[in-house]
Amino acid sequence: MTLKIDLHSHSTISDGVLSPAQLVTRAQEHGVQVLALTDHDETGGLDEAGQCARQAGLTFVPGVEISVTWAGRTVHIVGLHIAPDNETLNSGLDTVRAGRLDRAYEMANRLEKLGFTGVFDGAMAFVSNPELISRTHFARYLVQEGYCRNMQEVFDRYLGDDKPANVPVRWATLKQAVDWIRGANGIAVIAHPGRYNYTPQQFDQLFSEFRDLGGQAIEVVTGSHHPSEYATYARVAQRYGFLASTGSDFHGPNDGRMELGDLPPLPSDLTPVWHDWF
Ligand code: AMP
Ligand code: MN
Ligand code: MN
Ligand code: MN
Repeated sequence: MTLKIDLHSHSTISDGVLSPAQLVTRAQEHGVQVLALTDHDETGGLDEAGQCARQAGLTFVPGVEISVTWAGRTVHIVGLHIAPDNETLNSGLDTVRAGRLDRAYEMANRLEKLGFTGVFDGAMAFVSNPELISRTHFARYLVQEGYCRNMQEVFDRYLGDDKPANVPVRWATLKQAVDWIRGANGIAVIAHPGRYNYTPQQFDQLFSEFRDLGGQAIEVVTGSHHPSEYATYARVAQRYGFLASTGSDFHGPNDGRMELGDLPPLPSDLTPVWHDWF
């Protein structure tokens, strides 16, 4: 019997809508046996999720998803099996989170200029962790107010990387993210590579640099990939010698993405990132 494994998810500690405990409970209800919580730039939910998972009899993998700027664009690096209390990791994440409030004021400004009202307070009403205001919270507000039909429309029109209300940030460097994760005894994983707008040359450079820095894995099957992309990144995993990871990138029950644990199996010719965990 194969295990039901989900190695990418979010709680209210970043831009998810369920608390860490609620997330674990939902994972259990959906038959997930191994779950990683990977909140953006923050480890604050891992204790609660870990305790809840122990009670629920579910294997918990402490994780994080670090925002990185590489070649002028944002890349997400997931860390799996990290030591949640590692000081270098957590002080690094503190610096990554620091720019978010100013950026949120600026994004609110830009959205107001585009004609929307009540934007900052409206987005803040969706925020649980004041250090982690994200574009997702703004998107939820615009959908709630009927300005857009769904989250995807918000990103396509206003908040996507090259859209008018997005305020780019200088996140961590790729080296910092990989060093912090490895320093906390974790495995570094390139999250949802299909989401990045790089040229083929840049992708080759990104994957090579990541590997040279000690990065070990790449997400192949993820809720942030179209199924047609699974084969593409399976080939990338083979070519660069990466372990393969899988995760829903679940943010909430009504976010229009994949349900927790609702993942097709990895292509069989790949080595799963969990191959030596159990
Ligand atoms: P931020 O960290 O504030 O830049 O926000 C990034 C978050 O926005 C991601 O973690 C996703 O949850 C969300 N996001 C980015 N692009 C999209 C998209 N096209 N559709 C839905 N959510 C997105
Ligand atoms: Mn997110
Ligand atoms: Mn991501
Ligand atoms: Mn994510």
